[in-house]
Amino acid sequence: MKPPPRLKLSLKPAAESVVRGGHPWIYSDSIRSQNREGEAGELAVVYDRRDRFLAIGFYDPDSPLRVRVLHRGKPAAIDAAFWRSRLDEALAWRETLTDAQTNGFRLVNGESDGWPGLVLDRYADTLVLKLYAVAWLELLPMLRELLVETLRPGRIVLRLSRNLLAKSGGLEDGAILYGPPLDGPVVFLESGLRFEAEVLRGQKTGFFLDQHENRRRVETLARGAEVLNAFSFSGGFSLYAARGGAKSVTDLDLSAHALESAKRNFDLNRGDPRVAACRHETVQADAFVWLEQAKAASFDLVVVDPPSLAKRESERHRAIQAYGKLNAAALRLLRPRGVLVAASCSAHVSGEEFFGAVRMAARSSGRRFEELEVTSHAVDHPATFPEARYLKCLFLRIG
Ligand code: SAH
Repeated sequence: MKPPPRLKLSLKPAAESVVRGGHPWIYSDSIRSQNREGEAGELAVVYDRRDRFLAIGFYDPDSPLRVRVLHRGKPAAIDAAFWRSRLDEALAWRETLTDAQTNGFRLVNGESDGWPGLVLDRYADTLVLKLYAVAWLELLPMLRELLVETLRPGRIVLRLSRNLLAKSGGLEDGAILYGPPLDGPVVFLESGLRFEAEVLRGQKTGFFLDQHENRRRVETLARGAEVLNAFSFSGGFSLYAARGGAKSVTDLDLSAHALESAKRNFDLNRGDPRVAACRHETVQADAFVWLEQAKAASFDLVVVDPPSLAKRESERHRAIQAYGKLNAAALRLLRPRGVLVAASCSAHVSGEEFFGAVRMAARSSGRRFEELEVTSHAVDHPATFPEARYLKCLFLRIG
């Protein structure tokens, strides 16, 4: 049987300039015409109004995000050599960012590294490959070979986003693509601290690597402090605070599982005298309720890093209000000269909206306040387009 002709698309004018400007996503309603129906995961070539090559990308007829752009400019063959050079670029980008004290970091950050719908994290000698785009399923053998040859890992774990699970042809989330089996978390080093990553089933790829630098900032602010880590997960911020000389750290999370991991992470680092000297407590509760009810002025540093509060655009407004309320409650718990670390990972809430809500909460407290720093993702998480810049963090000292 003759193979079908190449899938060709043309775009509406506005979308054409967006793609020319480097944006990697083409939505279904931006497509003006196409030569035939496309199949999930096949390559689509995008042409401009004058029938000139514009870009090539992964096509997905089942997603409103119809094309994820792989390449723009001149036509190019998308083959193993193409991906090899893309991987080399991503690795080169990080060459100066890694140090002997850190073996857990992001190697490939999706679209922003030229790998649409694909994330690759390293935890010690385990690689975690997380896929969000259906096209990668067919390319898995090529990917596996490329990763083994280039990175020589001990193990590769496959993680699949929810939308891929139904299409994976029996491949399971948490499958071992290479190397020995695994029945628990992987221990890795971040800035000299040891942590567990729940690579098989945990959120994201098992740890929140995107907060690395914000955790390091917390370390510098924690000397002598009583610290509350709200939405603590496995205690990432807490270990840095402890090493920074915090007197006590309280991890607050709804998940008993996360708090168990936080306890183990403290145990993993007891060799550090400052961690050993820090009192560690855990509270399993709904942070939205607990923060409202806790005793005022009982902490010197409070971290508030909730899960995404706006999963879709329609939840944006309510999320902004929730951030305001949550951080107002956190500010009430701070003693004079205490520090609030307010983070948001909601992609649908802009920096302006989030920072606005936190500043409003600070103003309404009637107390003097000073902004120490406004930050974003760790440097191994490059973000080249607006939707990729989801993480926002404000460090604020209150009088
Ligand atoms: N700050 C963490 C990441 C936080 S992820 C880090 O740096 O690693 C969000 C966490 O919020 C998860 O652990 C989740 O269990 C917890 N969570 C979700 N809803 C919650 C709620 N209502 N109250 C308390 N914790 C909650």
